[in-house]
Amino acid sequence: MTNEQILDWKSEALLAEVVGYETDEVAHTASGSAVRTYRGAEYLDFTSGIAVHACGHNQPEVVAAIRAQAELIVHTSDVMRHAPQLELARFLRDLLSESAPGEPWAFQFMNSGSESIDTAAKLALKATGRTRFIAFQGGFHGRTLFGTALSCSNRAHWEAYEPFLSSLRDNILHAPQPRADSRTCIPALEALLDKVGDEVAALFFEPQQGEGGYFPISAEIGKQVRELTQRHGILLIADEIQCGFGRTGRWFGFENLGIVPDIVVFGKAVGGGLPLAGIAAPKKLMSRWSPGEHGTTFGGNPIACAAGLAALRYIDAHGLVERAAALGEHAKARLCPLLGKYGVSDVRGNGMMIGIEFRDAEGLPDYGRTGAIKAKCRDGGLLVLSCGARIGEPGVDNSTIRLLPPLNISFEELDRGLEVLAGVIAATGSDV
Ligand code: PMP
Repeated sequence: MTNEQILDWKSEALLAEVVGYETDEVAHTASGSAVRTYRGAEYLDFTSGIAVHACGHNQPEVVAAIRAQAELIVHTSDVMRHAPQLELARFLRDLLSESAPGEPWAFQFMNSGSESIDTAAKLALKATGRTRFIAFQGGFHGRTLFGTALSCSNRAHWEAYEPFLSSLRDNILHAPQPRADSRTCIPALEALLDKVGDEVAALFFEPQQGEGGYFPISAEIGKQVRELTQRHGILLIADEIQCGFGRTGRWFGFENLGIVPDIVVFGKAVGGGLPLAGIAAPKKLMSRWSPGEHGTTFGGNPIACAAGLAALRYIDAHGLVERAAALGEHAKARLCPLLGKYGVSDVRGNGMMIGIEFRDAEGLPDYGRTGAIKAKCRDGGLLVLSCGARIGEPGVDNSTIRLLPPLNISFEELDRGLEVLAGVIAATGSDV
């Protein structure tokens, strides 16, 4: 295709319209925290391809690892094991043995976060012999049918698939959103477990909710959830897909809660930009599966594992986990003066996973505002995303702007982006 044809993509209906792209721009090149388009625009990227580029776009060591592995072997599937997967598993095992000490962890690699959520659910079904699952309102766990049924952050994700989705949801129960200020979450969860606790195979949670509004779970709620699941013999599954690998200022989000889950689901940043995800479980739990009970053609592909290993090594060698914490404190200090002004009702989150919530003149979540903020930020050369679930009435909310830049973004770039954002918030705030 010529450049003109690429820019004229609208004239040919080549792609389904179902994915809600943020912009009509077409990406061309990227490096570090910058993305450039075919139109010649350059954006500062506060999205990281939705929490994927922890060490920036096209990080040279990751690109070199991809090239080197492509020369060796590209794909084996379940015909033969390969070295990049074994090396990545060893790296992750060592990482987890520090974050979550105990029995050594083992790994099953897949392609996507959603698929890995299904994988964790299958292991929980097999290991417990139970039939139900619990998740939280505001949670997002993916796009497979099971992940969609488990999720409760955006009505549009599941309404189109009724009544089938409801039939899946007969075995999936949702507890109130575990916001730090929630007084209902734990009592409601306790009541649920008193009724059906012995039927529940696993409880899924995000240590910091992503699509649901960038709400970190408090350590107090986290500990109570851990205690309750233990008491009822329920596997606790941490969805670290968005918040894992340094994003919250710890290698894993659950470390902020001072708890150790039974299964860890990971994705996004683990592949250094390539499709890679998977689950970690203690060896004994993982060995409940027999060969053939689960599988994948592409999951844990050699190039994806090599890229992922290079990315994780880069995060480790350059101290990006601690850096994420420092960048987060810096950003929050810059944003907090906006609190109470221009409709800004909250600035929250850990590390480089920051949410800025907006409320309208009546003090209700401002559902309309973030679309305009995102568009005006793009005009100013900055890419940001939104998120948020309606409490009590799950559905599209998006009253929160979320910031998730690469963890190696420079302080100068961070300040530059925050300045654009603050200017846009002030300019759009006067419209409310
Ligand atoms: N869980 C969480 C917390 C996520 O943020 C996402 C993706 N946004 C998923 C699951 C699904 O991952 P994927 O898109 O790789 O299937």
